[in-house]
Amino acid sequence: MTIEQYPQLQIDLEKVKHNVETMIATCGKQGITVSGVVKGANGIPEVIDTFVAGGVTTLSSSRLPQLAYIKENHPEITTLMLRLPMLTEIDDMLAVADISLNSEEVVLKAINNACHEKGITHGVVLMVDLGDLREGFFDETELLKVAEKVEYQWTNLELKGIGTNLGCYGSIEPDEVNLGKLVSLAQTIEKRIGRKLEIVSGGATTTVPLVLKGGVPEGINHLRIGDGIFLRDMEYYFDYTFDELYGDCFTIIAELIEKKEKPSHPIGTISVDAFGNKPEYVDIGNRLRGLVAIGRQDVGDMTKLIPEDPDIKVIGGSSDHTILDLTDSQKDYQIGDKLRFHMEYEGLVFSSNSEYVHKTFIPIASEGIS
Ligand SMILES: *Cc1c(COP(=O)(O)O)cnc(C)c1O
Repeated sequence: MTIEQYPQLQIDLEKVKHNVETMIATCGKQGITVSGVVKGANGIPEVIDTFVAGGVTTLSSSRLPQLAYIKENHPEITTLMLRLPMLTEIDDMLAVADISLNSEEVVLKAINNACHEKGITHGVVLMVDLGDLREGFFDETELLKVAEKVEYQWTNLELKGIGTNLGCYGSIEPDEVNLGKLVSLAQTIEKRIGRKLEIVSGGATTTVPLVLKGGVPEGINHLRIGDGIFLRDMEYYFDYTFDELYGDCFTIIAELIEKKEKPSHPIGTISVDAFGNKPEYVDIGNRLRGLVAIGRQDVGDMTKLIPEDPDIKVIGGSSDHTILDLTDSQKDYQIGDKLRFHMEYEGLVFSSNSEYVHKTFIPIASEGIS
């Protein structure tokens, strides 16, 4: 007998597959290949298998064990290491990644040496920092010099192309100007090496709004997309809609463990909460408060959870508890009830990683019991 366990992360694989297919088709119309990024869902095997079922030819992650699963189970898929490799993980990386994103000469040299010893070659995408100020060459001369070294000097490296990342740290939006710069750098490199680059990678989910507007400059032919396939949480922030996608592929299900009327303002001398923060508490009188058994350790900032019942408000919580305001709900919730939430990227990253959150799956229709 299987006992249902909570908290749960319920994953609708049919919807994930639809989103994968839709993203590939939408980008494909503009000559853009999608590398599916699986790190946001912790590379859960069922999710990886679903990306493959949805038709990706390339998958990426920042974590080597996730790439190892892909190589082992889907050897036909081209694997891409997203985070700049550590010097200490090069051997492990070469076993599972066909291509890596890079920005440091010493690392490239070390990869080349390791490849030479193994008698293999490795694909390289050089990252360019166009202002977001996370990874990538900032100095154009250095970029061009290293590109030529990869092309001519380090013979076990194959220069696949260049790429950029925008929006992850510096909150810079991809646009015609910064991505246009990437295209012109690609052209400069192509002139110097006398051939076309295979990959000009124009970013991640944050570039999707530009795809929908038809504003991605010609020459960008590759994006690395995870969040935009999993969730629709960026639409609110970036002011666009992608209605062909499901926004409810992932659901957090948590159990109600307390329900009581209490004041909304804590009583006594206020110092700091469990995480050293000093929150503001607003007194709106007595409220019907519910506790569900899921916390910061499972979902990160729980106030970013989106209750399926629109009349419930998430007030806050601690490591293992989330506090809800149930006062305005039409439903008369009882202890033991299971409450459902949708989430932003942070919630997905935490819940998919937590061993305390049980993963359950709604299978792809054709694979389900009919
Ligand atoms: C995480 C990551 C991506 C994918 O980001 P999403 O927001 O999930 O689409 C792409 N490129 C790099 C370098 C990343 O680290």
